[in-house]
Amino acid sequence: MFEKLKAQPADKILMLMQMYREDPRDTKIDLGVGVYKNAEGVTPVMRAIKAAEHRLWEEQQTKAYVGLAGDPAFSDAMIQLILADAVPRNNVAAAATPGGTGAVRQAFELIQMANPDARVFVSNPTWPNHLSILNYLGIETVSYRYFDAETRGVDFEGMLADLKGVRRGDVVLLHGCCHNPTGANLNLVEWAAVIDVLNAAGAIPMVDIAYQGFGDGLEADAEATRLVASSVPECLIAASCSKNFGIYRERTGLLMAISQDTSAHALNQDTLAFLNRQNFSFPPDHGARLVTMILNDADLRADWARELEDVRLSMLSLRQDLADELQRLTGSDRFAFLAQHRGMFSRLGASPELVEQLRTQHGIYMIGDSRMNIAGLNAKTIPILARAIVDVGV
Ligand code: PLP
Repeated sequence: MFEKLKAQPADKILMLMQMYREDPRDTKIDLGVGVYKNAEGVTPVMRAIKAAEHRLWEEQQTKAYVGLAGDPAFSDAMIQLILADAVPRNNVAAAATPGGTGAVRQAFELIQMANPDARVFVSNPTWPNHLSILNYLGIETVSYRYFDAETRGVDFEGMLADLKGVRRGDVVLLHGCCHNPTGANLNLVEWAAVIDVLNAAGAIPMVDIAYQGFGDGLEADAEATRLVASSVPECLIAASCSKNFGIYRERTGLLMAISQDTSAHALNQDTLAFLNRQNFSFPPDHGARLVTMILNDADLRADWARELEDVRLSMLSLRQDLADELQRLTGSDRFAFLAQHRGMFSRLGASPELVEQLRTQHGIYMIGDSRMNIAGLNAKTIPILARAIVDVGV
């Protein structure tokens, strides 16, 4: 049996990490892997997480199974964080999942169950795992224009034109904030226009929100998702706690299926639990429990929000410093987009050849599509990167 297995393409980010580790240059810069790093290059455990873990260790009396959809208190707390009062709680079915990836995967399976003919529209580019999972499940994908290589902003006209090709029952995958890999995002007026197109055609939005609090703030980053949830008859929302709670390896996420038709709620909820049962039974509990404790405790929540805000502001200032340095070196504003992008990533807009040159000549490691993890920078490395970008002629 095993001899029939085919080798799968190697993960490009892991390959890049390996090359980075083996590079002896002390000026090397890692802008590859998608985790937040502080100025010391460390991905810290957040203070509120440490405090919640301590409390959990003291208070937890059992590790018996919870429920197939996870602890309802986790769903309640996350729904409140993401949706606030955008939709009545009764219209939201929700299940905890292993990370945001688990939520995305379960959402795709639910789409396939509900409508095997649905096509899923994805932005060009999108997070590679979206496409990889869709292809693995055999779901037809259609890509819509998103990134404008000239302005490094959103090609909104192109996006809207492509979305006009949706059919009734198709699903359109959108990044709730901090688009990965580009860093370029829609404004709320543009979101409203996208919603109008989908509603007119009878297509269903699916929002992937993995970076709430990393862009313009906890509330601002959720606004687009709230607008979608309150403006369409049905939608899916896949959320990740990996980044904004810094609990990557705990695998904590939530899938929501929202229907304005309240009578659909019980079936939606049962389906999410059923899908969990088929794939992994009970979702991981540890990270979800910490998140619930933090969101439901005023002091822990305030401390978490403060630390998250510091993380957000530090990334914004790295963006601004890099844009300023490039402005100084080139005398032009053509890199101003770096300060306008939001989230952990920016697509530099360099060709794969130039990305290769940045690596071989300057020890700068970014993914082949020129996605840079802004959090991989610090005051020392910004001038090195800016000089290298100018040297290779981006
Ligand atoms: N969605 C997007 C767009 C992401 O960038 C990520 C992580 O990189 C995820 C979902 C899921 O992350 P995780 O499974 O680690 O929670």
